[in-house]
Amino acid sequence: MKLTWYGTASIKITVGKTSLLFDPFFSLNPAIPPAHLEDFAKSTAIFITHGHFDHLMHLPTIWKQNTCLIHCGSTVCNALYRLGIPKNRIRTIAHGEELKFGSLTVRIYRSRHIKFDLPIIMKTFFNIRIIRYFKNFKIFLQANRAMPMGEVFAYEIIHKKTNILHFGSLAFDDSVQYPQNPTLLTVPYQGRSDLEKYAMSFILTFKPKAILLHHFDDTFPPISSAVNIETFIKNAKSMLPTVPVIVPNYGKPINLFESHAK
Ligand SMILES: [Zn+2]
Repeated sequence: MKLTWYGTASIKITVGKTSLLFDPFFSLNPAIPPAHLEDFAKSTAIFITHGHFDHLMHLPTIWKQNTCLIHCGSTVCNALYRLGIPKNRIRTIAHGEELKFGSLTVRIYRSRHIKFDLPIIMKTFFNIRIIRYFKNFKIFLQANRAMPMGEVFAYEIIHKKTNILHFGSLAFDDSVQYPQNPTLLTVPYQGRSDLEKYAMSFILTFKPKAILLHHFDDTFPPISSAVNIETFIKNAKSMLPTVPVIVPNYGKPINLFESHAK
């Protein structure tokens, strides 16, 4: 199983000819290389965790490179219709569904969105970066109106005896029973000023065997920021010494679970 990260929460998981895209997005920061259109082409299925623009806004380009379905909640489906994507290319999903793609199974879980705290809101909106990236800021204000958050989902991607529990935002629904001890937990590391403590308690809830950090980068300034991950990694090493923390590089596939795969 290969996992490739393209910035933000944009992730591709492939096994053989099966390739699943999650929240595909092109970097809007000139300092960060965007994915290539081919990276998001010929997918087996596309999944959306929630409707925010940094998870959705490039779908009107990406769907044309694919013949597959885009899976999302009903609010996001409606936003995608309005953005010009044909209805027969969008599938509404619900909590509890299980879908099969080649040797992969995807289970769908209701989830939640992180609550931005006041310090992070102040830091984002009272910042010189708003002027520096004003063109982006105007685009995002417009995109934000066209793309409501809608329902939030987490996905479990199962392959043989391994599973990835994937979140697009760092929160979960208390009333949902998520799989415990996943082989890999993806941790979107952005959205609060107290992330170090907050993310650790999130991780302790699921007791994963390994962690993959994503969404910590500055792919859509001035709204995103480059989050420092060093302290978190140091804390994780001392608190969870047996749980490796994977920090992906843009566009570089990571071979997962080679030792479990047989
Ligand atoms: Zn979001």
